[in-house]
Amino acid sequence: MSRTNQYWDAPAEALSRDELSALQLQRLIKTIEQVSLSPFYQARFRECGITPSSIRTLEDIRRLPLTTKTDLRNQYPYGLLCVEREKLVRLHVSSGTTGQATAVFYSRHDVDHWADLMARCMYMTGARPGDTFQNLTGYGLFTGGLGFHYGSERLGLLTIPSGAGNSKRQIQLMQDFSTTVFHIIPSYALRLMDIMTEMGMDPKRDLSLRIAYLGAEPYSEEVRRRVEDFYGIDVYNSYGLSEMNGPGVAFECPYKCGMHIWEDAYFVEIIDPETLEPVPDGTLGELVLTTLNREAMPIIRYRSKDLTRILPGECSCGRVHLRLDRIQGRSDDMFIIKGVNIFPVQVEQVLMNIEEVGNNYVIILRRENNIDRMIVRVEVTDRIFVEDMRHLQRIQKKIAHDLRGELLITPDLELVEPHALPGTEGKAVRLIDERRI
Ligand code: ADP
Ligand code: ZN
Repeated sequence: MSRTNQYWDAPAEALSRDELSALQLQRLIKTIEQVSLSPFYQARFRECGITPSSIRTLEDIRRLPLTTKTDLRNQYPYGLLCVEREKLVRLHVSSGTTGQATAVFYSRHDVDHWADLMARCMYMTGARPGDTFQNLTGYGLFTGGLGFHYGSERLGLLTIPSGAGNSKRQIQLMQDFSTTVFHIIPSYALRLMDIMTEMGMDPKRDLSLRIAYLGAEPYSEEVRRRVEDFYGIDVYNSYGLSEMNGPGVAFECPYKCGMHIWEDAYFVEIIDPETLEPVPDGTLGELVLTTLNREAMPIIRYRSKDLTRILPGECSCGRVHLRLDRIQGRSDDMFIIKGVNIFPVQVEQVLMNIEEVGNNYVIILRRENNIDRMIVRVEVTDRIFVEDMRHLQRIQKKIAHDLRGELLITPDLELVEPHALPGTEGKAVRLIDERRI
């Protein structure tokens, strides 16, 4: 890969490690000054005796207090604001998957910088002017829609703001305007596969798709493979969260071996969620992020609750920006059954590796007579129901066996027909814990 023409933003992407660290320090100090304007951080810094001059090296960041989602909720709506109201041009509210929403404000500078980050991500994967980009995610308060939209326009792609849902129309748009690049939530990408199959379509033959960006919820390598095979495309993992702008925090390059975090814009730490101490590269922990180039609402050491690791070593693309492993899930997604800790994505990984398994599943946890039960309700291909019972039993046995191998417990299985489970166009609900209801 040539280093000269593969960067959309060479001054930020083609830095050496030393140059990147110097830029980070300079931006961190500026951020501390800026964030000290908010009532919330003023009080926090006073408590900890922090002033902008406390930060001399990047390691000094550990002296700063952590910020949690609860802090953001308590400060709702304006407690973290660092500019006058007249400087604000945008408000997003996190989708509230895990409780009361949080507000994030953007100045003109922030919206511009975010669009640059997104353009950089898309360019990195090979999207170019002349491509048609279809954005199949919700617009509005969810940051995924407008984040990609602005990035795509900044890059100069023909941008179709189709939003989520209305699948037949989506397919029509793909056909009429020869969509080449699209952005979609993984569970909706799977559902759209079923709809295309039902319509007798083969996207490899009937469409012009080349590239897709999948993110906003955890998904497994097996889902990536299914989606790539079916549509005949390259899938790139996209990570972000509203508190850090939205998408564009970390993104895969053509080597697809972890997502580069844009360290000129975000300072990254991985901590042990219990001790709050940093963990070595390669070790799983909680992702903690600090904005380095945000004006309206900088956030220091934000505990994302997302569990991942830094992949050690250098990437073949030449970028020195650290790479994050696939996000395993939020610490809140983990459930405990019969003493075993499980993430829904572990179940998915097993299911999607089995050819006869369809594209949707849900995990149900139930307590009956004081005994916990885990039920995996999963769609299987039509064929299974028309073939003889022995075949069905064999598949059932195989799924149970493979799940036991991964989880160390055997869940109860309910095999259902395609489309039997409710589909979503937004983030999928993979776990129903009836024990909490
Ligand atoms: P909410 O927190 O209400 O869901 P957001 O839209 O800000 O609202 O969601 C951000 C969260 O989505 C992240 O913290 C992470 O848990 C999840 N997420 C985003 N991208 C990915 C991805 N590529 N893989 C796994 N999880 C992701
Ligand atoms: Zn790379």
